[in-house]
Amino acid sequence: MKEDDLGAVKWIHGAPDCTRSDDPPLAVHRFDRDTFILRVSKCFSFEGNFLYLLCGRQRAILFDTGGPADPGSPFAVLPLRATVDAILAGWLEQRGQAEIELVVAHTHGHGDHVFWDGQFADRPRTRIVAPALDAVQQFFGLQEWPEGEAEFDLGGRILTIFPIPGHEPSHLAIYDPGTRILLTGDLRARPQMGEVGADLRRAGKLEKSAAKAGGVSPGSRYPGCGVRSRDRETFLGPCRQRVRWPANASCPASPGIPSS
Ligand SMILES: [Zn+2]
Ligand SMILES: [Zn+2]
Repeated sequence: MKEDDLGAVKWIHGAPDCTRSDDPPLAVHRFDRDTFILRVSKCFSFEGNFLYLLCGRQRAILFDTGGPADPGSPFAVLPLRATVDAILAGWLEQRGQAEIELVVAHTHGHGDHVFWDGQFADRPRTRIVAPALDAVQQFFGLQEWPEGEAEFDLGGRILTIFPIPGHEPSHLAIYDPGTRILLTGDLRARPQMGEVGADLRRAGKLEKSAAKAGGVSPGSRYPGCGVRSRDRETFLGPCRQRVRWPANASCPASPGIPSS
């Protein structure tokens, strides 16, 4: 299996009886040398979020920190800080590099994306971007919100950050030209069906961003994931064919219910 073939990854899904599952609360998939996808087990939280750690020469950025444990979960705490520390320590060692900054940011501010931010509060060389519109705007330099876009340089790896509010007011999409990954948080998980115009505008932005990379290969999709309504299929369809849709947290074919 190629690391970047997301369709072939065996993600943890939770289990019918979580007390008898050996799955860790958090699993790590190394997508490429500098890109890590962390998946929260549905035995920890029904949301089953995916978190993304992207590394460049000067800094790494973590998008999202997951949600609280479900009542009855065999786990109480998500070992996110320890997992990120271990990933970065290994990454630094491989590169023979002494240290790297970490930015903790979010696709958007819902509780299942920000809950474990506090684990990073005392971490050295770490900045946490508060999950609120003014903080997000200021940190990334998105003065024309909800229009415009910004570049965020990890050091030899420049991400494009652009606003896609609607699902939540500070919602961002993140495009990484190197991997051709487009992170869209919960854009697909719960579209605002009452705001078709706004959704179309967002979809147009995604298209534009994907097209900038040129010659983007067909998407690699999470097994069993589908777009839920015909309307959304219509306007996300072309977009999905041109970018890799990263694994999405809410898949009807896997145990759990849609994230919020
Ligand atoms: Zn969510
Ligand atoms: Zn959400």
